[in-house]
Amino acid sequence: MAIVELKDVQLNYHTKNGEIVALQDLNLTIKDQEFVSIVGQSGCGKSTLLSLISGLLKPTKGEVKVNGLPVDGTTGRVGYMLQQDYLFEWRTILDNALLGLEIRGEKTAEAVDEVREMLKVYGLGGFEKYYPSQLSGGMRQRVALIRTLATKPHVLLLDEPFSALDYQNRLSVGEEVVRILRERKKTVIMVTHDIAEAISMANRVVVMTPRPGTIQSIHRIEITDQGLTPIQTREVPTFREYFTAIWKELNVNA
Ligand code: ADP
Ligand code: MG
Repeated sequence: MAIVELKDVQLNYHTKNGEIVALQDLNLTIKDQEFVSIVGQSGCGKSTLLSLISGLLKPTKGEVKVNGLPVDGTTGRVGYMLQQDYLFEWRTILDNALLGLEIRGEKTAEAVDEVREMLKVYGLGGFEKYYPSQLSGGMRQRVALIRTLATKPHVLLLDEPFSALDYQNRLSVGEEVVRILRERKKTVIMVTHDIAEAISMANRVVVMTPRPGTIQSIHRIEITDQGLTPIQTREVPTFREYFTAIWKELNVNA
């Protein structure tokens, strides 16, 4: 079943020097519980694409649907997680994790219990009263993920979610995030500039052209279908072939 559909999408930005066509003739369908990675040169429109799916932007032309309905910014259950974790330093871990619910006016006793439970299950049980500065980068990113999951999104949009972490942490946080999202059966669209990361987590990798951004190609990553973790996926011999193919495509445009 299609959960996200983009049909003939164009997005223009209006600037004082005229219009910038950021995306053009973009068609993409994403199935329920799929993990799709998006790669492409800086400025090709990756973040713009996520903003359209989240309803922050409206397409200049074409259609964007989530769950079969046009996105209008309020109905769609879409969660957005960014590169910076945007935790508030003066709020405790629990209060940070509750923020999304608070903003939506959905902070019921039941919802609070669920968030406490998630913190426990994901290794943050003893840290509810701590402040973000007392946590490691990986733990902070987990709090940000729990905050996003608390509002029960069907679709999660991740924009370079690990780029603030060092290499070791990227690997282990990536491992955890994939496990959590699989357990919770989420549909995920992740933007990254790291080709290996893109392949290791995804069912499909979408390569975008330079601006105006459109889909250049889609690679189905069959090795991830076996339920391997991202680190295990990196060790499968065919991993290298996917990497080389995508790397070449991106470099043709460079
Ligand atoms: P990416 O995330 O792939 O690096 P973006 O989606 O951020 O690319 O941007 C795509 C293009 O649109 C870029 O050329 C960028 O300069 C331009 N752009 C992005 N946001 C705006 C804006 N608010 N106003 C004008 N141009 C923008
Ligand atoms: Mg971007």
